[in-house]
Amino acid sequence: MSDASTHPRLPAVDRILSWPSVAPLLAEHGRTAVLASVRELLAEFRQQSRQDGSDVQIFSEPVLSLQLSGRLARDHAARLKRVFNLTGTVLHTNLGRAPLPEEAVEALISAARFPCALEYDLDSGGRGDRDDLVEAWLRELTGAEAATVVNNNAAAVFLLLNTLAFRKEVAVSRGELIEIGGAFRIPDIMARAGAKLREVGTTNRTHLRDFAEAIGPRTALLMKVHASNYAISGFTASAPEAELAQLAHDRGLPLVVDLGSGALVDQTRWGLPHEPTPRETLACGADLVTFSGDKLLGGPQAGLVLGRRDLIQKLKKNPLKRALRAGKLTLAALEAVLRLYRDPDRLPERLTALRLLVRPATDIATQAERLLPALQTALGAWPVTVAVEPAFSQIGSGSLPVDRLPSHALAIAPHRRKGGLREVETALRRLPIPVIGRIGDGALRLDLRCLDDEAAFVAQLPHLARP
Ligand SMILES: *Cc1c(COP(=O)(O)O)cnc(C)c1O
Repeated sequence: MSDASTHPRLPAVDRILSWPSVAPLLAEHGRTAVLASVRELLAEFRQQSRQDGSDVQIFSEPVLSLQLSGRLARDHAARLKRVFNLTGTVLHTNLGRAPLPEEAVEALISAARFPCALEYDLDSGGRGDRDDLVEAWLRELTGAEAATVVNNNAAAVFLLLNTLAFRKEVAVSRGELIEIGGAFRIPDIMARAGAKLREVGTTNRTHLRDFAEAIGPRTALLMKVHASNYAISGFTASAPEAELAQLAHDRGLPLVVDLGSGALVDQTRWGLPHEPTPRETLACGADLVTFSGDKLLGGPQAGLVLGRRDLIQKLKKNPLKRALRAGKLTLAALEAVLRLYRDPDRLPERLTALRLLVRPATDIATQAERLLPALQTALGAWPVTVAVEPAFSQIGSGSLPVDRLPSHALAIAPHRRKGGLREVETALRRLPIPVIGRIGDGALRLDLRCLDDEAAFVAQLPHLARP
C-alpha cells in the first residue's frame, strides 16, 4: 500500500499538519495521534475516490480538518463514561453497582495522589499488613476474629476454596449451585480452585441428613451459598445454618457461607427486606463468611472474608492472595465506608447506596412531576407522550430479587404502537451524559430513584431537540 499522500489529488501529510486549522488539534491530541488520524483519513478518502471518483473538492482544508477533528474527538473520548442510571435497579452491575459516598471518594483521591501507609506500621516504623487497615473496623462491626480483603467476592470464594479445599471435597446443596451474572458459577469456580464439588440433597436446604451422609474422609468443608434468586422475606436467623455449623463442627470441619450481598447491619430498621448479616451468620456458627464490597455494603468493588483467625491466616499465606489482593484505592474507599457504619443512625443520609434504596416514593414522585415539563418540551418534536407513572425499583446485584421498592418513573410512550421508542432510547443513550432507562410494555421508563444530579440531567435535555 502506497502512502495516501502520494495520491495525486491528495495533499501531502506534512502539508496537512502545517495547516492553521490543524494547529489546535496538534496542541490538544499531540503529533502522534494527529498523524495517525490524518493517515487513516487519507486512506479512506483515497479508497472512496477510487470507488466513486469523488470530487477533489472534498479534500479541501475546511472539509478535511473538520473530519479530522471529529475523528480525533471520537477516538480519544474516554470510554468509561459517567451515565444516569434510571433503570430502576439501584445496584446495577453493568453500571458500576454502589456509588461511593463523598468520604470514600475523598479517601480514594488522597490515596491516589499521595504516598500512604499502605503496608507500613506508623507506630513501629516497620512493615505493616494492608488488611490491618480495615480489619479492626470489620471486627468491631461483625464480631469476626479476623478479616482479609481481595478484589471481589468471586475472588474471595476462589481463594477460600483453593486454600482450604484443594484436591478435597466441598459439600454444597444442589439448590445453591448458582450462577451470578453469567460469569460466576459456583461449580466452575470450585473446579478452577482445585476443589471437588460434592452435590448434596436436592434444592431443600433443610435436609441436614443429606449433608451428614455426604461427609467423607475427603471432605474439606461444608459450604452454603446465598442463592440470590431465593425469596428471602421469611428468613430468620435460621436454624439450618446453626444446625449445619453444629454438624460441621461435630465432624471437625469448617462451615463457610458465601453471603453475596453482605449487608453489614439489619436493614429492616429502614424498611428494607431482611438480608442475613455477617454478624448473624458468624453467630450461627459459620467459620468464614464472604461477601462483596460494592453491593449492599455500599463501598468499592472488593471481596471480604471474615471469621476464624486461624483460617484467615491460611488464606493470607496462600500465594494466590498476593495475586488477588485489593489495591490501595479500594482499601482507602472501603475503610472510609466502614467508618460511616460506626454511626448507623446517620447511614441513610451518608451512605449513598442506602440513601437511594430508602428514598421515599413520594419524594421521587415530586421530582418526577417537577421534571415532566422539561422532558415533554425536550421531546416535543418526537412522536411520543411523556407521563409520570408509579414504578417499582429493584435493589439489584442479585440481592432480594423478589422485593420491589415503590418508585416513580417518567414513562415515554410512542403515539403509534412501538414506533420511535428505540430511537428515543438511542437518543437518550447518546447524550453527553448517557441516560439509561428501561424499555418494557411499550414504553421507555426512566425510574428517577437514582437521579441525584437533576441539574445536569435537565441541562442536557435540549440536545434531544430533533428526532
Ligand atoms: C454477587 C455474588 C457473588 C459475586 O460477587 P462479586 O463481588 O461480584 O465477585 C458471589 N456469590 C454470591 C452469592 C453473590 O450474590
